[in-house]
Amino acid sequence: MSYNNEISRPELTTLEAEVPHRIVVTVDGPAGVGKTTTAGSLAARLGFLLLDSGALYRVVALHLMRNAILPGSTPVPDSTLKSLDLRMELEVGSMRIYLGSEDVTGVIREERIGEAASVFSCRTEVRRVLLELQRSASSKWNLVAEGRDMGTVVFPHAQVKFFLTADLEERSRRRYFELLDRGEHPELAIVKEEMLSRDNRDEFRSEAPLFKASDAVCIDTTHLGPEQVLRCMMNNIEEKLQVKFSNP
Ligand code: C5P
Repeated sequence: MSYNNEISRPELTTLEAEVPHRIVVTVDGPAGVGKTTTAGSLAARLGFLLLDSGALYRVVALHLMRNAILPGSTPVPDSTLKSLDLRMELEVGSMRIYLGSEDVTGVIREERIGEAASVFSCRTEVRRVLLELQRSASSKWNLVAEGRDMGTVVFPHAQVKFFLTADLEERSRRRYFELLDRGEHPELAIVKEEMLSRDNRDEFRSEAPLFKASDAVCIDTTHLGPEQVLRCMMNNIEEKLQVKFSNP
């Protein structure tokens, strides 16, 4: 596995100028809560790089499936995990991801890959492969890290942590419209059923289950728009880090 460390460093932000050590802001929560969009906007607003950890699990799932490993297979063969050639290019507010030389940023968004990622991510051997890769990013850059275990396992010492929630109906509705937008033909009841089983897998797996870190700020986004969520996060970050950001 390789890690692209030739990424150009973004401009110094107000925060970097005033706080010399690396800052990590974690955003965790269940599927369909809007983490990726919110974390992307937050990273863009802060001038931080975005670490979308779900994308990493999706790439591993794609790699395993291309090597004829089915989601239920246990254990996942070590040789197949070792042949993973994953590279991520972190950018301010977004992330591109490669399998070998192939840009798979778009392909991994397919529902079947998300479903497989949800199953494979329960495996200890799969999580172990990604742990150091995720942590290595924080030694170099200020990050907004988004996923399920960012504030609990990967970055337990992050300076600011958020946990986003929304009720199941609302999360299913959001995912349904997202799939429609992508040209897919979803059925709301099936989307809801799949979301519930993903929630169960994430919450009840033995390795890095989804839960709110005790020092995370919980934001229920059921009745909030993206701008309101972002404002709430920015207020919190400014208060915790004692830094005032100018308005965009
Ligand atoms: O967030 P996203 O839907 O892209 O993640 C794909 C799958 O990867 C999730 O269903 C979840 O089970 C898994 N995942 C994880 N830990 C993370 C991020 C994602 O187990 N930090």
